[in-house]
Amino acid sequence: MNAVAVANAGAAEIAHNKPSVLPQDIAAVSASLATGWLAPGPEVAALEAAYVRLHGGGDACAVSSGSAALLIALKGAGIEPGDRVAAPTYVCTAVLNAIAGCGASPILLDVEEDSFNVSPAHISDMNERPKAAIVVHTYGAAADVAGIAAHCGVVIEDCCQSLGGRTAGGEMLGRRGQASVCSFYATKIMTGGHGGMVYAANGGIAAFARDYVMFDGRDDWKPRFNFQMTDFQAALVRRQLDRLSEIVARRRKLAADYRAALPAGYGVQAGLDGPLAMPYRFVVRAPDAAARDRLHKHLGAAGIRCIVPLERKELLHRLLGLDPLRFPNAERIVATTLSVPLYPALTEGEAVRIVDALSKAPAP
Ligand SMILES: *Cc1c(COP(=O)(O)O)cnc(C)c1O
Repeated sequence: MNAVAVANAGAAEIAHNKPSVLPQDIAAVSASLATGWLAPGPEVAALEAAYVRLHGGGDACAVSSGSAALLIALKGAGIEPGDRVAAPTYVCTAVLNAIAGCGASPILLDVEEDSFNVSPAHISDMNERPKAAIVVHTYGAAADVAGIAAHCGVVIEDCCQSLGGRTAGGEMLGRRGQASVCSFYATKIMTGGHGGMVYAANGGIAAFARDYVMFDGRDDWKPRFNFQMTDFQAALVRRQLDRLSEIVARRRKLAADYRAALPAGYGVQAGLDGPLAMPYRFVVRAPDAAARDRLHKHLGAAGIRCIVPLERKELLHRLLGLDPLRFPNAERIVATTLSVPLYPALTEGEAVRIVDALSKAPAP
């Protein structure tokens, strides 16, 4: 055992992720359940209103997941069978599923090596103009939505990992695209177990979403689907939204402490160290795969569960059998990155252990 492992022998392993469910959250869910109203009701309406306030206007519709939110947003943007939708290869399959769910096909794009995001150049370099692009603010780092929108019909912002983040200019993410989506899955910034949101600064696609999920008791018929959120889920998400500024502040503090502890030779994902950033993950970039694996082993020995945040086999171009040589940056990112636990439910003692272990990481 190395020195760090000895120091931590007997200490419980620090989970890579853990939701923050406080006693007042549980009380709010219990109170919601006790009303006897479980279907979408006052808590869903209050959550939507709070979400709109956070974004300084617009309209929002709560749904059952981030995946559902993406599907509805694309449908609301008029994406139809045969359309082509641009998306990063470095993202989870929810994005691909939503495109396929519209009968459209994906145009996968490589990402920037420092921010892990698609840049306007990735779109302008294409030899076709996609009908829409899904722009992901990866791990909270703000992508250049305005720049991408200049080359593409419709932009849907995927804010599943960036809720509460702002651009360097101070604008809340999610307001630039025709719509933005968010997820309240168990490991996201805020959670209802499952859940999601469709938001539109100009209202349009959020109103479409509300119509789309309200399938029952209508006097007309067109394809709709039950993607509604329950009221007790909304009660949980709403209490977490109430303390979003604390959640973001805690994440910024942890990320700053980790960055300061990291020995020279390691890098971190760009775009997450400003005063307005929303670090959803703390992703270390090692110079090569061997150095990443050594760091992974070192932190594991210190009782800190780290993960490769997206593995090579999960890259969308790999899943679709496309030529990996067309996606060199994404290929390099999956080979050299490691995600270190970063979430408000970390205790002070756990945070100290992580900082200590990072400071003792082997030189890469
Ligand atoms: C989690 C996530 C989704 C999917 O959200 P679910 O609620 O799990 O369906 C979509 N896009 C991104 C970027 C995500 O992180």
